[in-house]
Amino acid sequence: MEADVSPAFSMDGPYDCQACGACCVAVGPVAVQPHDTQVPRRRTRSVRRMVGFASFEADLGVRCMKADDGRCGALVGQPGSRVACGIYDRRPSVCAEFQPGSGYCLEARASARARFSA
Ligand code: SF4
Ligand code: SF4
Repeated sequence: MEADVSPAFSMDGPYDCQACGACCVAVGPVAVQPHDTQVPRRRTRSVRRMVGFASFEADLGVRCMKADDGRCGALVGQPGSRVACGIYDRRPSVCAEFQPGSGYCLEARASARARFSA
């Protein structure tokens, strides 16, 4: 029997970000570049000791969003049902550039399907 997976994570779309949120819970640390000056610093942490980031990135001033069990700390709501970014107007550039329906989007949705299936 097929697992119970939210239709919001369908690999065929539609790509409704306000119902999905997969890329905010299932893509690993979210980088905050030095030019992302609008991101509230208290929402970020150093990457110096983080797996997946080289020390030179920390030296360049790169940080990442704080997260809990892979879920970005700025995410509000329930992935696969109803979500919002709590700092939408000040989110990191990598989030603003993330394209619904892109390969990375599909990767995140596939990961969320596995994570949130019953
Ligand atoms: S960009 Fe893709 S993975 Fe991210 S919330 Fe939108 S539909 Fe979901
Ligand atoms: S900052 Fe907002 S858009 Fe970016 S990962 Fe966190 S909740 Fe998602």
